[in-house]
Amino acid sequence: MSGVTVRVPAKVNVQLAVGAARPDGFHDLASVFLAVSLYDEVTATPADTLTITCEGPDADRVPLDRGNLAARAAELLAARHGLSPDVHLHIAKAIPVAGGMAGGSADGAGALLACDALWGLGTPREELLELCAELGSDVPFSLVGGAALGVGRGERLTPLPVAGPFHWVFAVADGGLSTPAVYGEFDRLAEGVEIPEPVASPALLDALASGDTTALAAALVNDLQPAALSLRPSLAATLAAGTEAGALAALVSGSGPTTAFLVKDAESAEAVAAALTASGTCRATRPATSPAPGATLL
Ligand code: ATP
Repeated sequence: MSGVTVRVPAKVNVQLAVGAARPDGFHDLASVFLAVSLYDEVTATPADTLTITCEGPDADRVPLDRGNLAARAAELLAARHGLSPDVHLHIAKAIPVAGGMAGGSADGAGALLACDALWGLGTPREELLELCAELGSDVPFSLVGGAALGVGRGERLTPLPVAGPFHWVFAVADGGLSTPAVYGEFDRLAEGVEIPEPVASPALLDALASGDTTALAAALVNDLQPAALSLRPSLAATLAAGTEAGALAALVSGSGPTTAFLVKDAESAEAVAAALTASGTCRATRPATSPAPGATLL
């Protein structure tokens, strides 16, 4: 039997408002997710046991054991239905690894949908979303795509109206940043500081809904950016290079170290990407547009 392939988008947080650390160590968030047209593809084929392979520029940094979110997704879905997770999962990886663009979460959502189709389970959408939330706080959004507001730890999603297209350039940094380490640095920088309740910005939501790139550029905000810059000071030069080249706005994507540049149009994306490459401040550039659809069976 041939395999089932699912394509899943990366995300950028156009707003990431982070509250103070809770007693359990997690943070309440107001996270405005926007899916972008950088995709991983997850292919599920029948196998005797659960195995994973991965191809792509960062493939050597992706765990191929049960630590891979795609494997955990297959196990979770199989357990829910009393099945054994006998499947081969192949990940064609284009989303930067440990880059703050939810690549692992994308693969988790992709594996869930691919295994559901391969095993003919027809799991209702609501139940798939619950399984996604069990896998990780960014996983439900990878399934849904488009734009959404995430509250709680980011996993309680409300879809948002979004026009577009918005044009982006992403600058891939050397190496990754650990999301828990970035939150740890956020907590360290926040010591003795009053942290407000995280709320979504009305101006940002309006800009998304109306497709107004200039207004979106003015409203972009990432509360994790100072922490990511503190751990990786060299990102400041990348942000400056993109802004000098004409990007309307620049920010760290999620917990970083990928940086995101919002630009006027496709032509400007080309110019900003070329300038970022010439600056030598990043490893690679990736133009993309948004919104992008969520996990999709190919
Ligand atoms: P987020 O934006 O959701 O915080 P991220 O984009 O910064 O995540 P990921 O690419 O999701 O980071 O990977 C974070 C870590 O998760 C990796 O260093 C890796 O050890 C582990 N991981 C587990 N499964 C995967 C996967 N399928 N692809 C990449 N990394 C994975």
